[in-house]
Amino acid sequence: MIRRGRFAPTPSGMLHIGNAFTAVASWLQMRQANGQFVLRVEDIDTARSRAELAQKQLEDLRWLGIDWDEGPDVGGQYAPYVQSERLPLYEAALERLKQAGLLYPCYCSRSELARIASAPHGLSSEGGAYPGICRHLTEEERQAKEAHKTPAMRFKMTGKPATFRDGWAGEVTFAGEAVSDFVVKRADGMFSYQLAVTVDDAAMGITDVLRGADLLDSTPRQLALYEALELKAPSFVHVPLIVDGNGERLSKRDRSITLASLRDAGVSPETLIGVLASAAGWIDRPEPVAARELISTFTPIRRQAGEPQDRLALSGSLRRLLSGLRR
Ligand code: GLU
Repeated sequence: MIRRGRFAPTPSGMLHIGNAFTAVASWLQMRQANGQFVLRVEDIDTARSRAELAQKQLEDLRWLGIDWDEGPDVGGQYAPYVQSERLPLYEAALERLKQAGLLYPCYCSRSELARIASAPHGLSSEGGAYPGICRHLTEEERQAKEAHKTPAMRFKMTGKPATFRDGWAGEVTFAGEAVSDFVVKRADGMFSYQLAVTVDDAAMGITDVLRGADLLDSTPRQLALYEALELKAPSFVHVPLIVDGNGERLSKRDRSITLASLRDAGVSPETLIGVLASAAGWIDRPEPVAARELISTFTPIRRQAGEPQDRLALSGSLRRLLSGLRR
């Protein structure tokens, strides 16, 4: 079987060092396996996405030394590779879930939920737990709400604990209450990330999902969708997020760490990849290296002993590089 991986950026900002790390890692995983690598633009959230940014992200990835066998600019047998052009597939999946009795309309607004929901612990892609309010509405209550509000559609989780193997973190278990019912279609008509990414990874024959640890808690949700839609789930690797010296996540808003600003400041892709690869333990010292030179030595498993971590602090060399640029 030919393995297939992908990088699936959301074009809501310029790519930063953390995105570069994930992109290079998933590319290396596939090139090492003689697999195929797919580039997919995840622009279903139209309010946050910009076509020009998608274009710039592709340029940045090419600058890094990454190529793809299929993608929006090169085509391929699973085209289109842009989510906003794939809405009928999401609609069909939604319909299937609806027929199976796995969805219910939810009238709760974001602000109501923000008031009552408990804050998520640590890294989270879905925010606080949904307390299940609309799952238990009587028919009268539902009709009363329906009269003045368009609902979102929520997927019913079983409430049972979910366990899966992650290529980085090992065996991961989420308690049932940690993975509550989640939105598959928003009240404004937009499909959710969870639904679109599951439908697309399955439709594009993706066998290996490698992405950032911030999406680890999305995996039990996506596995529930794979099961409900009777689709084969890929294997997962969640690599640590690159954080700054204070352990803070890098933000797309921090201009100084975008790939474009590094390039403009004269930093070579080899220099950047060298420091990332040494932070990840793929090479011993942060010497400049091209992405393709790492194909044989890459391992998604951390070499250092100890617990797997969901954060990887910038190495001193990268910090020096960045502070030099800021001056
Ligand atoms: N589009 C998502 C993001 O940019 C990544 C989705 C995924 O890798 O599953 O964060």
